[in-house]
Amino acid sequence: MARKIVAGNWKMNLLPDEGYQLIEDLSNFCEGNKLDNVEVVVSPPFIHLAKAAEMTAHSKLTISAQNCSDQLSGAYTGEVSVEMLKAAGVNWTLIGHSERREYYGDTDEFVNGKLKRTIEAEMTPVLCVGEVLEDRKAGKQEEVVASQLKGALAGFSADEVKNMVIAYEPVWAIGTGETASPEQAQEVHAFIRKYLTQTYSAEVANAVSILYGGSVKPENAKEIFGQPDVDGGLIGGASLKYEQFVKLIEIG
Ligand code: PGA
Repeated sequence: MARKIVAGNWKMNLLPDEGYQLIEDLSNFCEGNKLDNVEVVVSPPFIHLAKAAEMTAHSKLTISAQNCSDQLSGAYTGEVSVEMLKAAGVNWTLIGHSERREYYGDTDEFVNGKLKRTIEAEMTPVLCVGEVLEDRKAGKQEEVVASQLKGALAGFSADEVKNMVIAYEPVWAIGTGETASPEQAQEVHAFIRKYLTQTYSAEVANAVSILYGGSVKPENAKEIFGQPDVDGGLIGGASLKYEQFVKLIEIG
């Protein structure tokens, strides 16, 4: 069975001191609770990462980046490499979030390059996929997700894919307050699982955690996380508030 993961995506929110306070509080929460069944991850902005990783070096809380470069090093202004993340103690990163795809040109090919860097660096990537509203209305969600998976995972072996985490985030549900129904989430998660079985093996499909993301809140998480192919969540807005995120960890 794939491990359960509750991951927060802070996006471009929280000033460093606010972020460190939340990290400290979450770290204490994780220490004080038996979290044998759920891995807790938070993804602060780059500027917070080194200190956040230092603060949690001996904690159960895992720190993730929100993005990384597809290049190893060199003249790439504004970019951060996987080696730099690793040196700062960060071993996870989100890849291909829909906001990166929409605003910063993360094509499937680009996403594939970033994934390659993370796997070479033995990091855990959280590959984000999901359809826009227009595709959902046209009933094309599975087609879109399959094509994103195909592009992103091109050239990877089954063993490499086994070390990845996938987040299904329907774009129309991100930050909109509109969530996919538990049935809609389950349907696409089952489709992703089937895609992994057919493309790689049942072993890979069962090893990869598939997280749901898109307006997850304590009020709707129980039903969504309770679906057989949903292994946890990638949470934006509700991960910025200690009380809400902790409730989600408890549900996860
Ligand atoms: P949201 O964001 O929970 O605020 O909808 C989810 C995400 O973008 O990862």
